[in-house]
Amino acid sequence: MIFPGSGILKGLAVTARNFAGSYVEKDRLTTEQYPEERPKLPEAARSFPFLVYDGDNPETGMRCVSCKICEKECPPQCIYIIQDRDEAGKAIKRPKVFDIDISVCMSCQICVEVCPFESIRMDQDYELSSFDRFGSLILDKPKLLKSNSYYHSIHPTEAAETDGRIEADRLKKEAAAAAKAAKAAAPSVVSASSSSSQQEGKP
Ligand code: SF4
Ligand code: SF4
Repeated sequence: MIFPGSGILKGLAVTARNFAGSYVEKDRLTTEQYPEERPKLPEAARSFPFLVYDGDNPETGMRCVSCKICEKECPPQCIYIIQDRDEAGKAIKRPKVFDIDISVCMSCQICVEVCPFESIRMDQDYELSSFDRFGSLILDKPKLLKSNSYYHSIHPTEAAETDGRIEADRLKKEAAAAAKAAKAAAPSVVSASSSSSQQEGKP
């Protein structure tokens, strides 16, 4: 039989059960004691993009070659790149400026999907709030560059797959270069043998 207020009593009973149970069963706690406790994010969680570098030096290990594909494809156009140049004004395959306006970025990951050089990936850092509405929400190159080991720490499966692709690509390029060198050397052997046979045929 349902009587007025029975729903409230049932709800209070559930609350009381969970309150008492939370002292013995940690799983019953439904709130995280943030910021003392930080949630362990699932591997696929993403916030905003960052740039990956290999080795210890962000400038020399930077994977980005400043091709600007991500800048063109970003739906809200929040990536800004200026290509670096040497003293003679010749373009260098790296960005001089690489900014992402995270007040506009919608974390869609399209920049990651279109990058042909495995250079840009999604971060998991979510503690980016600021009192400065504009300046501090633009992430520049020093802020964006993070090591491959950091990438492994947040997305281990994806980072391992990426390393595998980079290594396979390197081996493929090495094999292609070796095959090209062998092909280039082959005509000289033929021409050497033909010239020697011509010499042998001389009266
Ligand atoms: S995640 Fe999407 S919106 Fe953000 S920079 Fe990349 S492409 Fe642009
Ligand atoms: S992050 Fe990738 S797509 Fe964007 S400029 Fe660099 S290499 Fe090109």
